[in-house]
Order: sequence, then structure tokens, then C-alpha cells
Amino acid sequence: MRHFRLRTSLTLFYAAVSTLLLATTGALFYNLLAYQLDSDLQAELSERGAALRGYLRIEGGMVSLAYDAADPEESFFIGNATHYFQIYDAVTGSLITRSEAMRALGPQYAPDEAKGLVRGPDFTHLGTDQVELLLHNDRIQTADGRSYLVQVGAPLTHRNAALRQLFNIILLLLPAGIVLAVLSGYWMSGRVLRPLEELGAAARDMTISDLHRRLPRTGNRDELDRLAEIFNEMFGRLEAAVAQMKDFTASISHELRTPLTALRGEAEVALASARSEGGYRRVLESQLEEFGKLSHLIDRMLTIARAEAGQIKLARSVVNLSNLARSLAEQMEIVAASKGITVTAELDDDVAVIGDEGWLERAILNLLDNAIKFTPAGGRVDVRVHMQDGEAMLEVLDTGIGIEAEALPHVFERFYRADPSRSKQVDGAGLGLSLVEWIVREQNGRIQVQSRAGHGSNFRILLPVPAENPGGQAGKHHGPAVSGDN
Ligand code: ADP
Repeated sequence: MRHFRLRTSLTLFYAAVSTLLLATTGALFYNLLAYQLDSDLQAELSERGAALRGYLRIEGGMVSLAYDAADPEESFFIGNATHYFQIYDAVTGSLITRSEAMRALGPQYAPDEAKGLVRGPDFTHLGTDQVELLLHNDRIQTADGRSYLVQVGAPLTHRNAALRQLFNIILLLLPAGIVLAVLSGYWMSGRVLRPLEELGAAARDMTISDLHRRLPRTGNRDELDRLAEIFNEMFGRLEAAVAQMKDFTASISHELRTPLTALRGEAEVALASARSEGGYRRVLESQLEEFGKLSHLIDRMLTIARAEAGQIKLARSVVNLSNLARSLAEQMEIVAASKGITVTAELDDDVAVIGDEGWLERAILNLLDNAIKFTPAGGRVDVRVHMQDGEAMLEVLDTGIGIEAEALPHVFERFYRADPSRSKQVDGAGLGLSLVEWIVREQNGRIQVQSRAGHGSNFRILLPVPAENPGGQAGKHHGPAVSGDN
């Protein structure tokens, strides 16, 4: 699906916010200007009213203005100030006098209206068809004790024109601003979403065969760049997992094909010519042996597959490692003796660990099996169990062929067999140690190896001990440690 809907909502949101912002700014400007113009006009009218007082004479209800008519400045001021001008008696509310311009605007105030203005605000609006006025209500008291309401006015024409003009500008700019906001919002959201779309398209087009591909990075460390990086890391992990899977499948096929080819060859040779009963028996016995190896191999593969799928749950109980190692050493002694190898055991008493006895047995047997497999006749295999730094340690040492330094880091990998030419003579598919490593890891333990080619190997398993055992370090988890000596 295209990002159309997200883009539309982003654009709409951006446009709505911009409109709100523009409208608010316009309203703010409008009100600020109105306030400023009103304050200016009010200040001017107050000043004018105060100046006019100096010229005003009211005696016995008669109004006159005392000024020098020859002075053009004074004449101009008086003419201006008295253009919109009227005086009411503050007590009776009756009109005393008013200017021509005021008269032309229409009827005078009713007495009650005029009296209301005496007590009312300092400024009054007066709107007529011809003009809108702002009137300053000045109250004055004459020497004879009478009081008057003196109104001096000014037209609001300029103020209103300025405001109307601003209003028109806002009205014109607002839709233009909205259009601009929609366009820029659309453009911007498109720009922001394009890399996302590219990312989506790249992820959609990704198949198992081109997991090596990586998404282009902008390199400017923003969120999108980070997202591409996360995707690339994921592709990397997928690539590794798929490579591992392919490897596993290839190895399985290879490992299965070898004994199958041998079985097939034997059967073909047996069928090619008639044999005695004893001859057929020998072939069948040899085949039975091959079948045994095959099922052992398949069993290991299945165990590893199930272990990797997390289908195997290991018990966590107290296991007497000393007793377990002793019985396994005794068990292997017979096999070793048949190869001319001596098995010795140096076991501290009652070293207990937390784990699964069945799986631990499997791990130790694997180590013993390897030690015997890779040790020539006359050699020695030694099993040791003791405590070390609060952990239980089981060691399997041999005086065998050892492992080359470059092979050492790989011995725990699946299907890895060091030096195939040397390992050729012995059975194995390179699965044993990877299983041992998994078992130890699952029991919160560690496995270490030290080896010297031509001298022998030392495999060590370190396991957590029960809590009541002082110095126990249950819960520790490490990968295998390897160290060569040659
Ligand atoms: P395999 O089934 O081949 O024994 P493992 O996973 O048990 O597979 O071991 C992997 C490889 O590590 C072996 O093929 C061998 O080369 C090497 N190896 C393991 N144990 C020993 C040992 N005790 N002495 C020498 N080499 C060993």
C-alpha cells in the first residue's frame, strides 16, 4: 500500500495547524492595531478637551469661546476642537449648545441619556449613517456652581479605514497562507515519507537469495538513517541465520550421504556374486554397524535441531558430579582398555552441581569419547572433579593428538572437525562438542579447552553449585573459552 493516507493526514494536520496559527496571528494583529488606534484617539481627544477648557466660558447658561481670532494657530485649534462639539446641563440633561456638524448628525440626547453620560464612562461611541464618532465626556463645573457635560468628538473614519484595510489584507493572506501550507505540507510529508516508502519497497523486494543487499544510508544520523541502519542490521542477522541454515543443510546432506554410499556399495558388491551364508552375515553385520552410526548421527542432529528450537527443557536439580564422573569413567574404562588406553580418575568427594543429570552424563560421555577417540594406544585419559573459585570443575585430560591452534576456536562449531586427514580414521560428524557446549550453556555453566598438538587436550566444564554451597556462582553464563599452547 502506498503512503497516500499517511501523507494526506500529515498534510491536513499541517494545514490545520498553519491555518490556526495564521488566523490567530491575524486576529492578534487586528486587535493590537485597534487598541493602539483607539488609545491614540482617546489621548488626542482628552488633550483636546483639556485645552478647550481654557477657552471655554459658560455664564448663566450662555457659552462663549475666548480666543484670539487673529492667531491662525488658535483659530485652527478652536475650529478643529469644536467641529464635533456639544454641551449639556449635567443636572437637567438639557442641551446648552452644539456645533453645526453635530446638529447635522441628527437628534440630540434625551435629558436622561445626557445625565447618564455624566456619570458614565469617559468615552462614548456615536454611530450615525454618515459618520462614526468617538466622543470625550468632560465634566466641568463653573464658578456659579453649575456643572456641564462637554463633549468633544472626532470621527473614527481613519481608524476604521486602517482596520478595514488590515482586515482585507488578512482575508487575502489567509487563503494564500492555507494554500501554501497545504502545498508545503504535502511536499514536506512526501519528502519525509519517501525514504520510508523506499525502505518498505526494499524490504518487500528482499528475497532469501539477495539478503546481502543493504539499504542506502543518508549518513546524517537522523531517525530515518537510524531506521535504515536497524533494517540493515536485521538483514545482516537474517543473512547470517540463512547462511547457517544452508551450511547446516549442506553438512547434513554430506554427512548422511557418506554412510549411505558405503551401505549401498556394500549391498551392490554383496549382490554381484553369490556368497556363503557366513559371507552374507558378515555383510549384514557390517551394514548393521553402519546403520548404528547413521541412527546415532540422526539422533544427534535431531537433538541439536530440537535444542535450537528451544524444545528441550533441562531439569535443575542437585547432581552429585563426583559420583556421576566416577561411574562414567568406570563405564568408559573397558572401551579405553580395548584401545590400550588407561583411564584414571581424581575426584574430590561429593562435589554437587545444579543441573540435569541425564544431559550432564551425555556431555561428559562426549568428552570422554573424544578423548579416547583422539588418543593413540598407550595413552592416558584422566577425569578430574574439584571445586575452583566457588564453581564445580570437571576436567577431561588426554595425552592424545591434541588440536592445532588455528582449529581450537572452531571445535565447538557444528560439523567442525579439525584436520580431516587426521580425523578421517575416527568416526564423527563434528556435532559432539557443539552439543556439549549447548548442554553446559543451558546449565548456566562454561566450557573451556586447552590443547597442544601432539601432546594432548584438556576440556574443562565449570558449573554452578547449589546455593547452600558457599561461594556458589549460579547463573553465570559465558561462551566457550579456548586456549592453545603450541
Ligand atoms: P566429532 O564427532 O568429530 O568428534 P566433535 O564436535 O566432538 O566432533 O569434535 C570436533 C573436533 O574437535 C573433532 O573432529 C576433533 O578434530 C577435535 N577434537 C575434539 N576432542 C578432541 C580431543 N580430545 N583431542 C583432539 N581433538 C579433539
